[in-house]
Amino acid sequence: MSKVIVFATPVFFLLIALEFFWSRTRASRTAGQQPYRLNDTINSISLGIMSQLGGVLLKVLTIGIYTVVFGAVAIFPRVEFWNSWYGIVLALIFYDLCYYWTHRAGHVVALFWAAHVVHHQSQHYNLSTALRQTSSGGFFSWIFYLPMAAAGVPPMVFGTVALIDLLYQFWVHTEQVGKLGWFDRWFCSPSNHRVHHAVNDNYIDKNYGGILIIWDRIFGSFQVENDNDPCVYGTRGALNSWDPLWANAEVYWALAKDSWRTQHWGDKLRIWFKPPGWQPADLARSHPYPAFKLASVTTYDPPLGRAQQWFAVLQFGLALGAVSIFLWHADTMPMAEAAIWVFALSCALWALGLFMQSRLSMLEVLLLQCAALATLSAIGMVGGHLVFKPMAMVIAIVFVATRAHSTGATGTFGTKFDALLVGALLFSLGGDVFLMLPGNYFIPGLGSFLVAHLFYIALLRQGQGWFPSRTALLWVLGFGAVMYSLLWSNLGDPVLKVAVAAYVSVIALMTAQAIGRAVVLGDSAARWVAVGACVFMLSDSLIAVNKFLTPVPLSSLWILCTYYAAQMLIVHHARPAHPRR
Ligand SMILES: [Zn+2]
Ligand SMILES: [Zn+2]
Repeated sequence: MSKVIVFATPVFFLLIALEFFWSRTRASRTAGQQPYRLNDTINSISLGIMSQLGGVLLKVLTIGIYTVVFGAVAIFPRVEFWNSWYGIVLALIFYDLCYYWTHRAGHVVALFWAAHVVHHQSQHYNLSTALRQTSSGGFFSWIFYLPMAAAGVPPMVFGTVALIDLLYQFWVHTEQVGKLGWFDRWFCSPSNHRVHHAVNDNYIDKNYGGILIIWDRIFGSFQVENDNDPCVYGTRGALNSWDPLWANAEVYWALAKDSWRTQHWGDKLRIWFKPPGWQPADLARSHPYPAFKLASVTTYDPPLGRAQQWFAVLQFGLALGAVSIFLWHADTMPMAEAAIWVFALSCALWALGLFMQSRLSMLEVLLLQCAALATLSAIGMVGGHLVFKPMAMVIAIVFVATRAHSTGATGTFGTKFDALLVGALLFSLGGDVFLMLPGNYFIPGLGSFLVAHLFYIALLRQGQGWFPSRTALLWVLGFGAVMYSLLWSNLGDPVLKVAVAAYVSVIALMTAQAIGRAVVLGDSAARWVAVGACVFMLSDSLIAVNKFLTPVPLSSLWILCTYYAAQMLIVHHARPAHPRR
């Protein structure tokens, strides 16, 4: 199934390019808005890719349950019938009816809307919007298709008609095709589906049909597009972000928060099954949603310079290539391996999204990718470990130096701070190289990281007292002591015993300093640095457990993931915008 999407992708892209050039010659239906914007297009297609990636992992659930139900209760499982042209047409109509109700539920039940919202977040309406799909739909949507399994539609035929239904819907996502007369009365068409994507009062929650629009006419949800009421696209609670992970999580998060806040147990549950936007009485008083006004809708468009645009395009091209290779092999890949690829590719798309909203710099995106490649190469999924591992820290050092230069690190604070950070990263680089070399360089590696942590302690001490939170100090030292006592009998060599004791003490002190600093400063950047320090401790604990206690499956993966996450959190968040004394 994944291969069909790989084949279809060039066709999608060709049609998107045609629509793009065609639309430039015509005025947009939405006044003052270009039909395409680079950031929106990359965001939509990234979400389409993530949906495909998620689909690889969820296929066990979606296809698996269907197949089980089919095997158990199929009423009319005659393969010759369902494989004939009329069987397939019937299955397609059946699927389209089920799709209508899945889609309608996706709009009127908050939990299902949390999954479906992704398709609606774009404020544009073009062919790239069609590719914008949810990653979490597979958790629930299968329920709505079980009648087909019960009727006896074989899984292969089900998969085929599902794909036909999905592919059909691609072309209707365009403003470049006007009304189509009789066709609009029978089929889902560009005009009908524009209405579906609009947030105007008359259009909201209308035209759910996938291929046939007659379902909407039968079940009372049909609405004609009115030329005097131009469609305004998007969602009523705007996303205002290019982060593809957040795009998938935003409504779940809002529902979880509401469910947590409301007082009554019944409401805690009801929130998930009521229509989106519903609030129990106590929340409507304490945390009301702002009223929606069509006139106040603004377009989310954080500025991006020309060089950044080219970087984004290049990054996106590379991600697309990597995803195509993955999807090509996904069907035959072991699930654990596929999950690692999905995670790595999602990270790359997430970083690109954050880059487009200026939350990550170019070098940070490269750092993240290099870290991902260093991790994947450590477990043998790609070559080049000897290059990627040191390169990640080199990029981190260049990033810190460039940031210091561009923000004009003046005064003792700025200069000293950046110098300490570079020192910490240089010794981390030394540690990385020692631990990577063939032969036993464990103690030099440990020593190098020990010095790196001393630099980090000095850095986190800037403008702060020593260990401002005594509670944190006690807890972290306690954790270190427990870890050390567990390792003690397996360390053997007295030199190793002393070296590990020194290392555990220093990393525990670094973490305690970071937590104390976060308690004093109380801002989110300082908290992220503290999280980074804790993750560093976790990473080192994993190394210790794996080396001295018991082998951990895929140890390099967990160790390097946590190591790079820790380094990146500290590097990104440690430097205060305005030095505090
Ligand atoms: Zn919808
Ligand atoms: Zn749509």
